[in-house]
Amino acid sequence: MAELTDLTIAGARDELAKGAISAADLTAAHIAAVDAASDLNAFILTTPDSAAAAAAASDARRARGEVGPLDGIPVAIKDLFCTEGIQTTAASHILEGFKPTYESSVTARLWDAGAVMLGKANLDEFAMGSSNMTSHFGPVKNPWGRSSGRDLVPGGSSGGSAAAVAARAAMGATGTDTGGSIRQPAAFCGIVGTKPTYGRCSRWGVVAFASSLDHPGPLTRTVRDAAIMLGVMAGHDPKDSTSANVPVPDFEAALTGDVRGLKIGIPAEYRMDGMSPEIEGLWSQGADWLRQAGAEIVEVSLPLTKYALPCYYIVAPAEASSNLARYDGVRYGLRVPGEDLTDTYERTRAEGFGEEVQRRVLIGTYVLSAGYYDAYYLKAQKVRTRILEDFRAAFERCDALLTPTSPYPAFGIGEKMDDPIAMYLNDVFTVPASMAGLPAISVPAGLSGDGLPLGLQVISRAFDEETMFRIADVVEGAAGFDTRPR
Ligand code: GLN
Repeated sequence: MAELTDLTIAGARDELAKGAISAADLTAAHIAAVDAASDLNAFILTTPDSAAAAAAASDARRARGEVGPLDGIPVAIKDLFCTEGIQTTAASHILEGFKPTYESSVTARLWDAGAVMLGKANLDEFAMGSSNMTSHFGPVKNPWGRSSGRDLVPGGSSGGSAAAVAARAAMGATGTDTGGSIRQPAAFCGIVGTKPTYGRCSRWGVVAFASSLDHPGPLTRTVRDAAIMLGVMAGHDPKDSTSANVPVPDFEAALTGDVRGLKIGIPAEYRMDGMSPEIEGLWSQGADWLRQAGAEIVEVSLPLTKYALPCYYIVAPAEASSNLARYDGVRYGLRVPGEDLTDTYERTRAEGFGEEVQRRVLIGTYVLSAGYYDAYYLKAQKVRTRILEDFRAAFERCDALLTPTSPYPAFGIGEKMDDPIAMYLNDVFTVPASMAGLPAISVPAGLSGDGLPLGLQVISRAFDEETMFRIADVVEGAAGFDTRPR
Protein backbone atom coordinates (compact mmCIF):
# COMPACT_ATOMS: atom_id res chain seq x y z
CA MET A 1 0.00 0.00 0.00
CA ALA A 2 1.05 3.59 -0.58
CA GLU A 3 2.30 5.74 2.27
CA LEU A 4 -0.40 6.50 4.81
CA THR A 5 -0.08 10.21 4.08
CA ASP A 6 -0.73 9.58 0.39
CA LEU A 7 -4.16 8.13 1.01
CA THR A 8 -7.19 10.19 0.17
CA ILE A 9 -9.96 10.54 2.74
CA ALA A 10 -12.08 8.09 0.73
CA GLY A 11 -9.15 5.66 0.47
CA ALA A 12 -8.32 5.86 4.18
CA ARG A 13 -11.97 5.41 5.08
CA ASP A 14 -12.04 2.16 3.09
CA GLU A 15 -8.75 0.88 4.52
CA LEU A 16 -9.91 1.68 8.06
CA ALA A 17 -13.19 -0.11 7.41
CA LYS A 18 -11.33 -3.20 6.20
CA GLY A 19 -9.12 -3.09 9.28
CA ALA A 20 -6.05 -2.79 7.05
CA ILE A 21 -4.85 0.32 8.89
CA SER A 22 -5.57 1.89 12.27
CA ALA A 23 -6.55 5.44 13.08
CA ALA A 24 -3.62 5.56 15.50
CA ASP A 25 -1.11 4.78 12.72
CA LEU A 26 -2.81 7.12 10.27
CA THR A 27 -2.70 9.98 12.75
CA ALA A 28 0.88 9.19 13.83
CA ALA A 29 1.97 9.37 10.17
CA HIS A 30 0.30 12.74 9.82
CA ILE A 31 1.76 14.10 13.05
CA ALA A 32 5.20 13.18 11.67
CA ALA A 33 4.28 14.84 8.36
CA VAL A 34 3.21 18.02 10.17
CA ASP A 35 6.65 18.09 11.84
CA ALA A 36 8.45 17.39 8.58
CA ALA A 37 6.56 20.26 6.91
CA SER A 38 7.24 22.78 9.68
CA ASP A 39 9.29 24.92 7.26
CA LEU A 40 6.00 25.82 5.54
CA ASN A 41 4.64 27.52 8.70
CA ALA A 42 1.22 26.10 7.83
CA PHE A 43 0.16 25.75 11.46
CA ILE A 44 -0.15 28.36 14.20
CA LEU A 45 -0.64 25.63 16.78
CA THR A 46 -0.25 21.86 16.55
CA THR A 47 -2.09 19.50 18.86
CA PRO A 48 -0.27 16.14 18.50
CA ASP A 49 -1.13 14.79 21.95
CA SER A 50 -4.85 15.35 21.69
CA ALA A 51 -4.71 14.08 18.08
CA ALA A 52 -3.10 10.81 19.21
CA ALA A 53 -5.70 10.45 21.97
CA ALA A 54 -8.56 11.16 19.53
CA ALA A 55 -7.17 8.57 17.11
CA ALA A 56 -6.96 5.95 19.87
CA ALA A 57 -10.54 6.76 20.82
CA SER A 58 -11.54 6.32 17.17
CA ASP A 59 -9.95 2.87 17.03
CA ALA A 60 -11.79 1.94 20.23
CA ARG A 61 -15.09 3.12 18.73
CA ARG A 62 -14.46 1.13 15.59
CA ALA A 63 -13.79 -2.00 17.68
CA ARG A 64 -17.24 -1.47 19.19
CA GLY A 65 -18.75 -1.02 15.74
CA GLU A 66 -19.56 2.67 16.17
CA VAL A 67 -18.09 4.55 13.24
CA GLY A 68 -18.80 8.04 11.97
CA PRO A 69 -18.31 9.10 8.33
CA LEU A 70 -14.88 10.65 9.08
CA ASP A 71 -13.80 8.35 11.86
CA GLY A 72 -10.04 8.47 12.38
CA ILE A 73 -9.40 11.00 9.59
CA PRO A 74 -6.78 13.61 10.60
CA VAL A 75 -7.61 17.16 9.51
CA ALA A 76 -6.33 20.71 9.97
CA ILE A 77 -8.62 23.48 11.18
CA LYS A 78 -8.25 27.05 9.95
CA ASP A 79 -7.49 29.11 13.02
CA LEU A 80 -10.64 31.12 12.43
CA PHE A 81 -12.86 28.32 13.79
CA CYS A 82 -13.28 28.54 17.55
CA THR A 83 -12.10 25.36 19.27
CA GLU A 84 -13.06 24.89 22.88
CA GLY A 85 -10.15 25.36 25.27
CA ILE A 86 -7.67 25.61 22.36
CA GLN A 87 -6.13 28.91 21.32
CA THR A 88 -7.98 30.55 18.42
CA THR A 89 -6.25 33.63 17.02
CA ALA A 90 -7.63 34.48 13.55
CA ALA A 91 -3.87 35.02 12.96
CA SER A 92 -4.17 38.31 14.81
CA HIS A 93 -2.08 39.67 17.67
CA ILE A 94 -5.31 40.99 19.16
CA LEU A 95 -6.58 37.45 19.79
CA GLU A 96 -3.27 35.89 20.79
CA GLY A 97 -3.88 33.64 23.79
CA PHE A 98 -7.68 33.62 23.33
CA LYS A 99 -9.11 30.24 24.31
CA PRO A 100 -12.78 30.01 23.39
CA THR A 101 -15.17 28.43 25.88
CA TYR A 102 -17.18 27.01 22.97
CA GLU A 103 -16.70 24.94 19.82
CA SER A 104 -17.77 26.16 16.38
CA SER A 105 -20.72 24.24 14.96
CA VAL A 106 -18.76 23.07 11.90
CA THR A 107 -15.85 21.68 13.94
CA ALA A 108 -18.28 20.10 16.41
CA ARG A 109 -19.82 18.25 13.46
CA LEU A 110 -16.38 17.05 12.36
CA TRP A 111 -15.57 15.69 15.83
CA ASP A 112 -19.00 14.05 16.07
CA ALA A 113 -18.19 12.31 12.78
CA GLY A 114 -14.95 11.01 14.29
CA ALA A 115 -12.40 13.34 12.64
CA VAL A 116 -9.11 14.02 14.42
CA MET A 117 -7.66 17.54 14.75
CA LEU A 118 -3.96 17.92 13.95
CA GLY A 119 -3.79 21.63 14.75
CA LYS A 120 -4.88 25.14 13.90
CA ALA A 121 -3.86 26.27 10.42
CA ASN A 122 -2.31 29.63 9.61
CA LEU A 123 -4.26 32.23 7.61
CA ASP A 124 -4.31 35.89 6.67
CA GLU A 125 -5.19 38.05 9.68
CA PHE A 126 -8.97 37.85 10.16
CA ALA A 127 -9.06 36.11 6.75
CA MET A 128 -8.26 39.38 4.99
CA GLY A 129 -5.88 38.68 2.17
CA SER A 130 -4.94 36.53 -0.79
CA SER A 131 -1.39 35.52 0.07
CA ASN A 132 -1.28 34.56 3.76
CA MET A 133 1.22 37.43 4.11
CA THR A 134 -0.90 39.35 6.62
CA SER A 135 -0.72 36.71 9.38
CA HIS A 136 0.72 37.95 12.67
CA PHE A 137 2.40 34.54 12.85
CA GLY A 138 4.33 34.99 9.61
CA PRO A 139 3.80 33.94 6.02
CA VAL A 140 3.05 30.40 4.88
CA LYS A 141 5.13 28.86 2.11
CA ASN A 142 3.55 27.04 -0.80
CA PRO A 143 4.95 23.48 -0.96
CA TRP A 144 5.15 23.87 -4.76
CA GLY A 145 7.91 26.42 -4.22
CA ARG A 146 10.28 23.80 -2.83
CA SER A 147 11.26 22.33 -6.17
CA SER A 148 11.58 25.67 -7.93
CA GLY A 149 13.74 27.01 -5.12
CA ARG A 150 11.46 30.05 -4.83
CA ASP A 151 9.45 31.09 -1.80
CA LEU A 152 5.93 31.21 -3.17
CA VAL A 153 2.71 32.23 -1.43
CA PRO A 154 0.10 29.50 -0.92
CA GLY A 155 -2.69 31.99 -1.65
CA GLY A 156 -5.06 33.17 1.02
CA SER A 157 -6.68 33.55 3.27
CA SER A 158 -6.88 29.78 3.95
CA GLY A 159 -3.18 29.48 3.04
CA GLY A 160 -2.12 27.26 5.94
CA SER A 161 -5.01 24.88 5.28
CA ALA A 162 -4.14 24.62 1.58
CA ALA A 163 -0.39 24.22 2.15
CA ALA A 164 -0.95 21.51 4.80
CA VAL A 165 -3.26 19.48 2.55
CA ALA A 166 -1.00 19.86 -0.50
CA ALA A 167 2.07 18.85 1.54
CA ARG A 168 0.23 15.76 2.81
CA ALA A 169 0.43 17.03 6.37
CA ALA A 170 -3.39 16.76 6.66
CA MET A 171 -5.94 14.71 4.71
CA GLY A 172 -8.31 17.64 4.55
CA ALA A 173 -8.78 21.01 6.17
CA THR A 174 -11.48 23.50 6.93
CA GLY A 175 -11.36 26.91 5.33
CA THR A 176 -13.57 29.93 5.00
CA ASP A 177 -14.28 31.75 1.78
CA THR A 178 -15.50 35.34 1.88
CA GLY A 179 -14.29 36.43 -1.55
CA GLY A 180 -12.20 33.47 -2.68
CA SER A 181 -10.25 32.34 0.37
CA ILE A 182 -10.87 28.63 -0.15
CA ARG A 183 -10.81 28.48 -3.95
CA GLN A 184 -7.79 30.70 -4.65
CA PRO A 185 -5.38 28.98 -2.20
CA ALA A 186 -6.64 25.61 -3.45
CA ALA A 187 -5.77 26.68 -7.01
CA PHE A 188 -2.32 27.97 -5.94
CA CYS A 189 -1.52 24.73 -4.08
CA GLY A 190 -2.92 22.29 -6.63
CA ILE A 191 -5.77 20.93 -4.51
CA VAL A 192 -9.59 21.08 -4.45
CA GLY A 193 -11.31 23.97 -2.65
CA THR A 194 -15.08 24.05 -2.12
CA LYS A 195 -17.21 27.01 -1.19
CA PRO A 196 -20.76 25.74 -0.66
CA THR A 197 -23.93 27.81 -0.93
CA TYR A 198 -24.19 30.61 1.63
CA GLY A 199 -26.00 29.19 4.65
CA ARG A 200 -25.08 25.55 3.88
CA CYS A 201 -22.41 25.49 6.63
CA SER A 202 -23.03 27.23 9.91
CA ARG A 203 -20.97 30.32 10.71
CA TRP A 204 -21.58 29.89 14.43
CA GLY A 205 -18.26 29.99 16.26
CA VAL A 206 -16.33 31.12 13.19
CA VAL A 207 -14.58 34.44 13.85
CA ALA A 208 -16.60 36.87 11.72
CA PHE A 209 -15.05 38.81 8.84
CA ALA A 210 -18.00 39.82 6.63
CA SER A 211 -21.09 38.03 7.89
CA SER A 212 -23.14 38.12 4.69
CA LEU A 213 -20.21 36.70 2.72
CA ASP A 214 -18.45 34.24 5.06
CA HIS A 215 -18.74 30.63 3.85
CA PRO A 216 -17.04 27.74 5.70
CA GLY A 217 -16.01 24.87 3.43
CA PRO A 218 -13.45 22.09 2.92
CA LEU A 219 -10.00 21.92 1.27
CA THR A 220 -9.10 18.41 0.09
CA ARG A 221 -6.98 16.64 -2.50
CA THR A 222 -9.89 15.20 -4.48
CA VAL A 223 -13.46 16.11 -5.39
CA ARG A 224 -14.71 12.92 -3.73
CA ASP A 225 -13.01 13.92 -0.48
CA ALA A 226 -14.63 17.37 -0.76
CA ALA A 227 -18.05 15.74 -1.13
CA ILE A 228 -17.42 13.54 1.91
CA MET A 229 -16.11 16.35 4.08
CA LEU A 230 -18.78 18.88 3.09
CA GLY A 231 -21.45 16.28 3.84
CA VAL A 232 -20.25 16.29 7.43
CA MET A 233 -19.66 20.05 7.77
CA ALA A 234 -23.01 21.09 6.26
CA GLY A 235 -26.41 21.20 7.88
CA HIS A 236 -28.92 23.46 9.55
CA ASP A 237 -27.85 25.12 12.78
CA PRO A 238 -30.42 26.97 14.90
CA LYS A 239 -27.53 28.94 16.44
CA ASP A 240 -26.87 30.73 13.13
CA SER A 241 -29.87 32.70 11.91
CA THR A 242 -28.56 32.64 8.33
CA SER A 243 -28.07 28.88 8.34
CA ALA A 244 -30.33 27.28 5.73
CA ASN A 245 -32.86 24.76 6.92
CA VAL A 246 -32.55 22.46 3.92
CA PRO A 247 -31.64 18.77 3.85
CA VAL A 248 -28.03 17.80 3.14
CA PRO A 249 -27.99 15.39 0.20
CA ASP A 250 -25.47 12.57 -0.17
CA PHE A 251 -22.91 14.61 -2.10
CA GLU A 252 -20.73 11.59 -2.79
CA ALA A 253 -23.62 9.87 -4.54
CA ALA A 254 -23.70 12.80 -6.97
CA LEU A 255 -20.33 11.72 -8.42
CA THR A 256 -21.78 9.59 -11.17
CA GLY A 257 -19.25 10.59 -13.81
CA ASP A 258 -22.18 11.35 -16.08
CA VAL A 259 -22.47 14.93 -17.35
CA ARG A 260 -24.27 14.03 -20.56
CA GLY A 261 -26.90 16.59 -21.43
CA LEU A 262 -25.75 19.12 -18.85
CA LYS A 263 -25.33 22.65 -20.16
CA ILE A 264 -22.11 24.34 -19.12
CA GLY A 265 -22.00 28.13 -19.48
CA ILE A 266 -18.85 30.00 -20.43
CA PRO A 267 -19.32 33.60 -19.24
CA ALA A 268 -17.92 35.98 -21.84
CA GLU A 269 -17.08 38.66 -19.27
CA TYR A 270 -14.56 36.42 -17.52
CA ARG A 271 -12.37 36.66 -20.61
CA MET A 272 -10.42 39.62 -19.36
CA ASP A 273 -7.94 41.86 -21.15
CA GLY A 274 -4.42 40.77 -20.58
CA MET A 275 -5.42 37.32 -19.41
CA SER A 276 -2.47 34.98 -19.73
CA PRO A 277 -2.66 32.61 -22.71
CA GLU A 278 -1.98 29.61 -20.47
CA ILE A 279 -5.04 30.39 -18.32
CA GLU A 280 -7.15 30.97 -21.40
CA GLY A 281 -5.84 27.72 -22.92
CA LEU A 282 -6.64 25.73 -19.81
CA TRP A 283 -10.14 27.20 -19.71
CA SER A 284 -10.94 26.08 -23.27
CA GLN A 285 -9.30 22.74 -22.54
CA GLY A 286 -11.72 22.37 -19.59
CA ALA A 287 -14.67 23.13 -21.87
CA ASP A 288 -13.39 20.54 -24.37
CA TRP A 289 -13.13 17.89 -21.66
CA LEU A 290 -16.73 18.50 -20.67
CA ARG A 291 -17.90 18.52 -24.27
CA GLN A 292 -16.16 15.21 -24.88
CA ALA A 293 -17.91 13.82 -21.81
CA GLY A 294 -21.26 14.69 -23.38
CA ALA A 295 -22.03 18.11 -21.90
CA GLU A 296 -23.15 20.99 -24.03
CA ILE A 297 -21.08 24.17 -23.91
CA VAL A 298 -23.01 27.44 -24.18
CA GLU A 299 -21.82 31.04 -24.21
CA VAL A 300 -23.50 33.10 -21.51
CA SER A 301 -23.21 36.67 -20.34
CA LEU A 302 -22.78 38.05 -16.84
CA PRO A 303 -22.66 41.75 -17.68
CA LEU A 304 -22.10 42.99 -14.13
CA THR A 305 -18.99 40.90 -13.53
CA LYS A 306 -16.73 43.93 -13.62
CA TYR A 307 -18.58 45.55 -10.72
CA ALA A 308 -18.31 42.54 -8.41
CA LEU A 309 -14.82 43.29 -7.13
CA PRO A 310 -15.35 47.01 -6.40
CA CYS A 311 -18.66 46.19 -4.69
CA TYR A 312 -17.03 43.44 -2.64
CA TYR A 313 -14.39 45.89 -1.44
CA ILE A 314 -17.18 48.11 -0.10
CA VAL A 315 -19.46 45.47 1.40
CA ALA A 316 -16.75 43.26 2.96
CA PRO A 317 -14.85 46.08 4.72
CA ALA A 318 -18.15 47.63 5.86
CA GLU A 319 -19.20 44.42 7.56
CA ALA A 320 -15.67 43.83 8.84
CA SER A 321 -15.48 47.27 10.45
CA SER A 322 -18.67 46.52 12.31
CA ASN A 323 -17.68 42.95 13.26
CA LEU A 324 -14.24 44.00 14.45
CA ALA A 325 -15.62 46.71 16.74
CA ARG A 326 -15.86 44.06 19.45
CA TYR A 327 -12.07 43.87 19.83
CA ASP A 328 -11.78 46.70 22.27
CA GLY A 329 -9.24 45.43 24.80
CA VAL A 330 -12.03 44.75 27.27
CA ARG A 331 -13.83 41.65 26.14
CA TYR A 332 -11.29 39.60 24.18
CA GLY A 333 -7.56 38.98 23.94
CA LEU A 334 -5.00 41.77 23.97
CA ARG A 335 -5.30 44.86 26.18
CA VAL A 336 -2.84 47.74 25.99
CA PRO A 337 -3.71 49.98 28.98
CA GLY A 338 -4.05 53.69 28.21
CA GLU A 339 -4.73 56.87 30.17
CA ASP A 340 -8.49 56.40 29.94
CA LEU A 341 -10.98 54.10 28.24
CA THR A 342 -10.77 55.71 24.80
CA ASP A 343 -7.00 55.68 24.96
CA THR A 344 -7.09 51.98 25.91
CA TYR A 345 -9.31 51.23 22.90
CA GLU A 346 -7.02 53.14 20.59
CA ARG A 347 -3.77 51.67 21.84
CA THR A 348 -5.15 48.15 21.89
CA ARG A 349 -6.48 48.35 18.35
CA ALA A 350 -3.40 50.15 17.01
CA GLU A 351 -1.13 47.48 18.41
CA GLY A 352 -3.42 44.48 18.01
CA PHE A 353 -4.48 44.88 14.37
CA GLY A 354 -2.08 44.64 11.44
CA GLU A 355 -1.94 47.07 8.55
CA GLU A 356 -4.38 45.31 6.21
CA VAL A 357 -6.99 44.92 8.94
CA GLN A 358 -6.65 48.59 9.84
CA ARG A 359 -7.05 49.49 6.16
CA ARG A 360 -10.29 47.48 5.99
CA VAL A 361 -11.63 49.06 9.18
CA LEU A 362 -10.88 52.53 7.78
CA ILE A 363 -12.54 51.80 4.42
CA GLY A 364 -15.50 50.14 6.13
CA THR A 365 -16.05 52.96 8.59
CA TYR A 366 -15.83 55.46 5.76
CA VAL A 367 -18.37 53.77 3.47
CA LEU A 368 -20.81 53.37 6.36
CA SER A 369 -20.48 56.92 7.66
CA ALA A 370 -23.31 59.45 7.43
CA GLY A 371 -23.19 61.15 4.05
CA TYR A 372 -21.34 58.31 2.34
CA TYR A 373 -23.62 55.41 3.25
CA ASP A 374 -26.01 56.04 0.35
CA ALA A 375 -23.25 56.77 -2.13
CA TYR A 376 -21.18 53.68 -1.38
CA TYR A 377 -22.66 51.02 0.87
CA LEU A 378 -26.25 51.24 -0.27
CA LYS A 379 -25.20 51.47 -3.92
CA ALA A 380 -22.95 48.44 -3.54
CA GLN A 381 -25.80 46.45 -2.00
CA LYS A 382 -28.04 47.36 -4.94
CA VAL A 383 -25.39 46.26 -7.42
CA ARG A 384 -25.02 43.06 -5.41
CA THR A 385 -28.68 42.28 -6.08
CA ARG A 386 -28.11 42.90 -9.77
CA ILE A 387 -25.14 40.53 -9.76
CA LEU A 388 -27.38 37.85 -8.30
CA GLU A 389 -29.95 38.55 -11.02
CA ASP A 390 -27.22 38.18 -13.66
CA PHE A 391 -26.46 34.70 -12.37
CA ARG A 392 -30.17 33.81 -12.26
CA ALA A 393 -30.53 34.83 -15.89
CA ALA A 394 -27.45 32.81 -16.87
CA PHE A 395 -28.80 29.76 -15.06
CA GLU A 396 -31.90 29.88 -17.25
CA ARG A 397 -29.58 28.92 -20.09
CA CYS A 398 -27.18 26.56 -18.36
CA ASP A 399 -26.77 24.25 -15.35
CA ALA A 400 -23.36 25.45 -14.24
CA LEU A 401 -20.58 27.81 -15.21
CA LEU A 402 -16.94 27.05 -15.96
CA THR A 403 -14.28 29.72 -15.39
CA PRO A 404 -10.65 29.96 -14.33
CA THR A 405 -10.17 30.25 -10.54
CA SER A 406 -7.42 32.82 -10.51
CA PRO A 407 -5.86 35.09 -13.13
CA TYR A 408 -2.37 33.71 -12.44
CA PRO A 409 -0.53 30.97 -10.54
CA ALA A 410 1.15 31.39 -7.14
CA PHE A 411 3.44 34.42 -6.92
CA GLY A 412 6.52 35.09 -4.80
CA ILE A 413 6.35 35.82 -1.09
CA GLY A 414 6.43 39.58 -0.66
CA GLU A 415 5.16 40.38 -4.16
CA LYS A 416 2.12 42.67 -4.57
CA MET A 417 2.38 43.71 -0.92
CA ASP A 418 2.96 47.38 -1.70
CA ASP A 419 -0.08 47.54 -3.99
CA PRO A 420 -3.36 46.58 -2.32
CA ILE A 421 -5.31 46.94 -5.57
CA ALA A 422 -3.06 44.42 -7.34
CA MET A 423 -3.57 42.08 -4.40
CA TYR A 424 -7.35 42.54 -4.53
CA LEU A 425 -7.30 41.54 -8.22
CA ASN A 426 -6.56 37.97 -7.15
CA ASP A 427 -10.25 37.59 -6.54
CA VAL A 428 -11.76 38.80 -9.84
CA PHE A 429 -12.99 35.32 -10.75
CA THR A 430 -13.99 34.18 -7.27
CA VAL A 431 -15.77 37.23 -5.86
CA PRO A 432 -18.89 37.22 -8.10
CA ALA A 433 -20.05 33.80 -6.78
CA SER A 434 -19.31 35.03 -3.26
CA MET A 435 -21.46 38.11 -3.73
CA ALA A 436 -24.27 35.87 -5.02
CA GLY A 437 -23.76 33.20 -2.32
CA LEU A 438 -23.52 30.47 -4.98
CA PRO A 439 -21.64 27.19 -4.59
CA ALA A 440 -18.30 27.15 -6.38
CA ILE A 441 -15.36 24.77 -6.45
CA SER A 442 -11.80 25.01 -7.68
CA VAL A 443 -10.29 21.90 -9.24
CA PRO A 444 -6.58 21.59 -10.10
CA ALA A 445 -6.54 21.19 -13.86
CA GLY A 446 -3.05 21.83 -15.18
CA LEU A 447 0.34 23.41 -14.77
CA SER A 448 1.65 26.79 -15.80
CA GLY A 449 4.76 27.14 -17.95
CA ASP A 450 6.72 27.40 -14.70
CA GLY A 451 5.29 24.11 -13.45
CA LEU A 452 2.83 25.65 -10.97
CA PRO A 453 -0.75 24.46 -10.49
CA LEU A 454 -3.69 26.21 -12.15
CA GLY A 455 -7.32 25.75 -11.17
CA LEU A 456 -10.65 25.73 -12.97
CA GLN A 457 -13.79 26.87 -11.19
CA VAL A 458 -17.28 25.36 -11.47
CA ILE A 459 -20.17 27.51 -10.18
CA SER A 460 -23.68 26.09 -9.86
CA ARG A 461 -27.15 27.16 -8.72
CA ALA A 462 -27.80 27.81 -5.04
CA PHE A 463 -28.05 24.55 -3.07
CA ASP A 464 -27.16 22.53 -6.14
CA GLU A 465 -23.72 21.43 -4.95
CA GLU A 466 -24.51 18.03 -6.44
CA THR A 467 -24.29 19.32 -10.02
CA MET A 468 -21.17 21.30 -9.10
CA PHE A 469 -19.48 18.20 -7.67
CA ARG A 470 -20.54 16.00 -10.58
CA ILE A 471 -19.00 18.36 -13.12
CA ALA A 472 -15.89 18.99 -11.00
CA ASP A 473 -15.34 15.25 -10.70
CA VAL A 474 -15.39 14.87 -14.48
CA VAL A 475 -12.98 17.81 -14.92
CA GLU A 476 -10.69 16.27 -12.30
CA GLY A 477 -10.75 12.90 -14.04
CA ALA A 478 -10.04 14.39 -17.46
CA ALA A 479 -7.23 16.59 -16.15
CA GLY A 480 -5.57 13.62 -14.45
CA PHE A 481 -3.72 16.17 -12.36
CA ASP A 482 -1.14 14.73 -9.99
CA THR A 483 -1.61 16.83 -6.87
CA ARG A 484 1.84 16.11 -5.49
CA PRO A 485 4.07 19.18 -5.28
CA ARG A 486 7.28 18.58 -7.17
N1 GLN B 1 -8.85 38.03 -0.71
C1 GLN B 1 -10.16 38.48 -0.29
C2 GLN B 1 -10.01 39.53 0.77
O1 GLN B 1 -8.93 39.85 1.09
C3 GLN B 1 -10.98 37.34 0.16
C4 GLN B 1 -10.67 36.90 1.52
C5 GLN B 1 -11.57 35.79 1.96
O2 GLN B 1 -12.25 35.17 1.17
N2 GLN B 1 -11.62 35.60 3.26
O3 GLN B 1 -10.96 40.03 1.27
